[in-house]
Amino acid sequence: MISFDEANKIINAEFQNFKIRTTEVNLLNSLNYILAEDVISDINLPPFNNSSMDGYAIKYSEGKSKWKIIGEISAGNYKSFSLTDETTTRIMTGGKIPENCTAVVPIEDVTVQDEFVELNNSSKLIERQNIRPMGDDIKIDQTSVSKNTILNSRHISAAAACGKKKLKVYDKLRIAVLATGDELVDIDETLTGDKIRGSNLYSLLASINEMNMHPVDLRFVSDVKTELESKIKSALDSDIDILITTGGVSVGKYDYVPEIFEKLGVDIKFRKVNIKPGKPMVFGTFNQKDHPIFVFGLPGNPVSSYVGFQLFIKRNIYKLFGVDYQNNFNANLLEDIRKKDSKRNFMRGLFRYDNILKRYFVEKLASQSSGNIVTTSKANCLIVVEEDKNFIEKGESVECIKI
Ligand code: AMP
Ligand code: MG
Repeated sequence: MISFDEANKIINAEFQNFKIRTTEVNLLNSLNYILAEDVISDINLPPFNNSSMDGYAIKYSEGKSKWKIIGEISAGNYKSFSLTDETTTRIMTGGKIPENCTAVVPIEDVTVQDEFVELNNSSKLIERQNIRPMGDDIKIDQTSVSKNTILNSRHISAAAACGKKKLKVYDKLRIAVLATGDELVDIDETLTGDKIRGSNLYSLLASINEMNMHPVDLRFVSDVKTELESKIKSALDSDIDILITTGGVSVGKYDYVPEIFEKLGVDIKFRKVNIKPGKPMVFGTFNQKDHPIFVFGLPGNPVSSYVGFQLFIKRNIYKLFGVDYQNNFNANLLEDIRKKDSKRNFMRGLFRYDNILKRYFVEKLASQSSGNIVTTSKANCLIVVEEDKNFIEKGESVECIKI
């Protein structure tokens, strides 16, 4: 059995064979895609010196506190004025700074009488005040959003300001999910006898959507070899990048998934990882004509399949695309933690930030059963308990993974 780190190393190494595809999307459709180019600004931003306040543009001169109004500049309506020690123009926020202007006095700091403005006694002037210099935000030809960034609304705003209407992004990976098990029925089917709802299908498809990848829903298949084989075969013949199955990878009599993978030509790299939950887990590669398909046989226990996706699939996809994905943090335990095995444990936990102590605290959820779906939905992190740790005392700092 291999370790958690070894498993990730193997997956990462295999993912290097992935032929990365890029595509161009309109800026407004680019949300949550991973950027495949640096966004370079085509201008200085702001493109000209401008006022950050509504007020009066002046030529700063020490001791000077009264000026004659000679005109007005509002945003987008520049008029040329050349200021002297004696003159000022009204200027609005965003208005281009007139010639000789070295400060903007806010409206709140002056008293206006007829054509004159006078600085209030309580107000002070500083040279360059309230002027936003050209290129303060970014200079022409500099990078505003870096390659491999997961695009959010702030990045889209930056790209828009820097003149990009379309962005080069990584194509969504096509990730298929097949849920295996005689016991599984869909949500709207009647539950009879020993049937259960096959929630993993939904959990995994949602996890794929969360990453803005392309989910391919292969539905359910029973633990009948011929049916499993034909379903998996047609998946491996189809236009996908990753195949995920859930269930049927353990040592039970009807756990046929690994042998069917092998029969169909999947090159299995490992079958078990020394972790809890999710020990039985198959990873292999399949060579389809022109591209590899990465195959993950996740266990059927709902928590195991969820955690397997988070820890192995999501992380390695982000690594493949160079995303700086940081979801690990340290928190102080609110209670002792014990474990009996020598596996790396990922315990469902609940963290919170303490504003006064300026630290994260975490507690383990009472139930750690890998079958408990609703309990897991209340967790917001996984607490990592390393292989050689059997006891961690309340108050100690532990590694957590946000989920
Ligand atoms: P297996 O890995 O097939 O041995 O399944 C382990 C446990 O997970 C069993 O209790 C199954 O009934 C349950 N299980 C398997 N697949 C799913 C699924 N898609 N949704 C929810 N539970 C499942
Ligand atoms: Mg099963």
